[in-house]
Amino acid sequence: MITVLKPNTTEDQRNQLIGWFEEQGLTVHVSVGEFQTVLGLVGDTSGVDIDMIRLLDIVADVKRISEPYKKANRKFHPEDSVIDVHGAKCGGGNFAVIAGPCSVESEEQIVEVARRVKAAGATMLRGGAFKPRTSPYAFQGMRAEGLELLAIAKKETGLPIVSEIMNENHLDLFEDVDLIQVGARNMQNFELLKALGHIDKPILLKRGLANTLEELLMSAEYIMAGGNENIILCERGIRTFDHYTRNTLDISAVPGLHEMTHLPVIIDPSHSTGKASFVRPAALAATACGADGLMIEVHNDPKKALCDGAQSLTPDQFDEVMTTVRKVREAVL
Ligand code: PEP
Ligand code: MN
Repeated sequence: MITVLKPNTTEDQRNQLIGWFEEQGLTVHVSVGEFQTVLGLVGDTSGVDIDMIRLLDIVADVKRISEPYKKANRKFHPEDSVIDVHGAKCGGGNFAVIAGPCSVESEEQIVEVARRVKAAGATMLRGGAFKPRTSPYAFQGMRAEGLELLAIAKKETGLPIVSEIMNENHLDLFEDVDLIQVGARNMQNFELLKALGHIDKPILLKRGLANTLEELLMSAEYIMAGGNENIILCERGIRTFDHYTRNTLDISAVPGLHEMTHLPVIIDPSHSTGKASFVRPAALAATACGADGLMIEVHNDPKKALCDGAQSLTPDQFDEVMTTVRKVREAVL
């Protein structure tokens, strides 16, 4: 249930009402906006007399809502959330571009790619260290050493770094990582999500291969329920009957999620298409339709990449995509 307060409500009046809700056993999330304050009530509201609340002088409106995600719900929090990743912002008009190789492979590779993507306008550097591979025989990532190399690239370029976590027991290794990625395969690893709810770092939560937008938001809710509300959502393609592309980019996830939640939404055109030649059109479409950012795989030598070379752009290709992304942004803003 949400209660919208009238603009002239004093802090005392607001606190009195909050206290009353709390006495009914409800948890109250307060969102103070520029024009209105919204109280989100979580808990069993079945005993609350909605008509009585509506009659209060300070109340502009009361609504029962049925969505199971509360903290992520835009109704509780009408303004866009802006997630600050070590100075790189995402959401609320701030466009984030995360670029880098699928996997960290060597110091030379990650530092070179970091320099090139930064020069092209990327705002964060990605690099997988713990890789979720379909085959146990495929390259599994450089693990802890990969994270150390990413930290070197961060020192060299100043770019905040993004890397995927697969196991909560690895959290200590992620100290230098600025944005911790939860990959598609772990979107519903609820123990991992709960652990990430208790840390003080932004999380990049990717949509599962066959998950609905509501399920994605319920996973975000797991993290938020623990106290960590710094989440960026990522649409990375879903599994459909068509195999022409690696996955099917659900572009409508952007306006859909923007309606449902205040959390920023970025698009990964690399994993959603699986083909380097499709990354540019998908990135431009994502930009035009209002995504809050992009995550693009870039490799210094895609043909020799240990993972996902077919969908990786060269630094020159990335540079050109960025130039066009900026033009699209100017055109649609
Ligand atoms: C990745 O970003 O490298 C990755 C493994 O992505 P996803 O979880 O979307 O497959
Ligand atoms: Mn990849």
